[in-house]
Amino acid sequence: MAAGPVHERLGALQLVDHHCHGATTDGLDREGFESLLTEGEAWPGVSPFDSPVGLAVRRHCAPLLDLPRHAPPDLYLARRAELGAAEVTRRFLRAAGTGVFCVDTGYAPHRVTAPAELAEAAGATAYEVVRLESVAEAVAAGGVEPDAYAGAFRTAAWEAVRRPGVVGVKSVAAYRTGFELDPARPSPGEVTEAARRWLARGGRLEDPVLTRHLLWTAVDLGRPLQLHTGFGDSDIRMHRVDPTHLTDWLRLIAGTIPVLLLHCWPYQRQAAYLSAVFERVYLDVGLTLHHVGPARAGAILAEALEITPFRKLLYSSDAYGLAEFHHLGALAFRQGLAGLLQERLDADELALPDALRIARWAGRDNARRVYRLPGGPLDDG
Ligand SMILES: [Zn+2]
Repeated sequence: MAAGPVHERLGALQLVDHHCHGATTDGLDREGFESLLTEGEAWPGVSPFDSPVGLAVRRHCAPLLDLPRHAPPDLYLARRAELGAAEVTRRFLRAAGTGVFCVDTGYAPHRVTAPAELAEAAGATAYEVVRLESVAEAVAAGGVEPDAYAGAFRTAAWEAVRRPGVVGVKSVAAYRTGFELDPARPSPGEVTEAARRWLARGGRLEDPVLTRHLLWTAVDLGRPLQLHTGFGDSDIRMHRVDPTHLTDWLRLIAGTIPVLLLHCWPYQRQAAYLSAVFERVYLDVGLTLHHVGPARAGAILAEALEITPFRKLLYSSDAYGLAEFHHLGALAFRQGLAGLLQERLDADELALPDALRIARWAGRDNARRVYRLPGGPLDDG
């Protein structure tokens, strides 16, 4: 990392990664690794290594496996296999310098580390974020009458958030319906009707009425709500996950729960606008950071920070599967933010204490405040 007080301070800051997942506990062959490297698929004849994130892994992760920078994929994967999943995970998680992970435990098509294992490997603390769609789907799978669904979901959601270590909830409505939804709370009759259709049909919760019911239940729970927006895998319809579709709903729920817009790219400017006009709206540019790599993270963060109030930006990696991403996300965030703050410092657009404060807030203290995390006095200075 380049010298300078902002780079140094951000380099040493124990980050709060407010949205991530576990790392795989199984060894990965080339196919398995490449499938986790991309939000698309490993298409025949084209390697996901030949992408910005592939270059970033070879440049910034290879040295942590005792390889030269830019090591070729074959060498990288051979060394990774030689070290084994546990050691690889330990190295990347320690290198991330993250003090706190808030882990979404609702998505695990692979065998991944539980929050406690992640914490142990990183020498950090881990909390849990409950995915509400998983709660609803468990209620349906357990067997419930349509007119009892709303109550059963509510009870299950309350039980889930009262578990020790749970700091918030999450919805993947973006993946299921998108955000072009009627913002109003659905009536009990509408919910029962929708539940009747869903319970008869089965499968994932993707009914618009039940999705609205889920989001309003989140408001009732009173916990911080993470909402996936923007970038994600091929399940999303990108034009429907622009967070400004949520404007009317955000207006209706103003003054209730904190809403954390996750990922956001390419809508970081739209998310920034929402965070600037709604008191309880926050954003991050997780997932994007490691996909664009340290080379472009500063540009994305600069767009996110054009109008975002400084107490509204949070750090997340959204790492899933590859422990490389827990590290790369942290590195890209530190370098990107430090670079842009240093530039403004050099141009005398802000003073050093301002730069250091913004870095601390975005990297750690904003998340501590929103999720009411323990860990020392809140630094509001
Ligand atoms: Zn995620």
